[in-house]
Amino acid sequence: MRDVVIIGSGCAGLTAAIYAARAELKPLVVRGHEAGGQLSLTTGVENYPGFPKGVQGPELIDLMQQQASVFGAEFKEGDVSRVDLSRRPFTLELGKEQIETRTLIIASGASAKMLGLESERKLLGHGVSTCATCDGFFHRGHEVAVVGGGDTAAEEALFLTRYATKVHLIHRRDQLRASKIMQDRVLSNAKIKPVWNTVVADVLDPAKGEVTGLRLRNVKSGEESVSPLGGLFIGIGHQPNTSLFVGQLDLSSTGYIVTHDGSKTSVAGVFAAGDVQDHVYRQAITAAGSGCMAAIDAERFLEAEH
Ligand code: NDP
Repeated sequence: MRDVVIIGSGCAGLTAAIYAARAELKPLVVRGHEAGGQLSLTTGVENYPGFPKGVQGPELIDLMQQQASVFGAEFKEGDVSRVDLSRRPFTLELGKEQIETRTLIIASGASAKMLGLESERKLLGHGVSTCATCDGFFHRGHEVAVVGGGDTAAEEALFLTRYATKVHLIHRRDQLRASKIMQDRVLSNAKIKPVWNTVVADVLDPAKGEVTGLRLRNVKSGEESVSPLGGLFIGIGHQPNTSLFVGQLDLSSTGYIVTHDGSKTSVAGVFAAGDVQDHVYRQAITAAGSGCMAAIDAERFLEAEH
């Protein structure tokens, strides 16, 4: 029987692990299939306090994990496949193993949204990507496209200008949703070409096993055209990883875990932190802060029971 199990090993989960471990609760962290979370998919992080020269995302995650280990946090690989939050202790299934815990901290994060095209799915990892910082390097000298109009798409497009000869920024409206500063950077970059009022109708060419172009559709005129390109980056936002909790915890209409009074969820003893419960700020530092809150809330919950 565990005192604290933490689902997720991004910034929120690891900060919760540091605090819970220092409170001598010997937390178990289930790392999940996207171990390290979104920070492990980024390169330079310039806005995490304490690093005036910036820090690489994977390095920051590694340091956090080391810090949690120093205080006695344990880690397990893999994904939780089922949870039962209807009675305490809560039970979790991890592979063939069943884990019982008095409290649960959910920090399972959010994953990139996809367009939902069959061709996109087939070519994911073969020219279709959700992470410019991971895959941009492969597109040196190519023309590529980014879909989306928010900060994620803007950031991806700007990053890709390091490698690509031209970046087509495909947006379904004629105005970006991104913050003013990002809009200014994108729209003043000679390598970025906005393609307004346009959606991706199909990614070419699954038969060849690589991206050779896009079939685009203008949403105003309905006109279709083919644009030869070497890569497609999807930057249309994220969805919270909450499918395990449907019907067991209160979720918002967009699927985020609803928290109240800090990190508390609708089930006593279950706490949530990071992007799985935050669709507004979504920053490494806010995720870390909410991970700290969740660990303190879990500690106080356990104390109150004794
Ligand atoms: P957003 O929800 O802000 O933007 C998503 C974009 O994708 C929108 O422009 C949307 O179009 C478009 N879109 C959504 N679904 C589809 C679809 N099916 N087909 C085509 N286009 C689609 O998500 P982001 O991930 O960009 O940002 C989320 C939050 O994270 C924001 O608060 C942002 O500020 C923050 N963030 C901050 C960063 C930073 O500070 N450096 C970096 C990245 C994110 P439409 O505009 O028409 O709705």
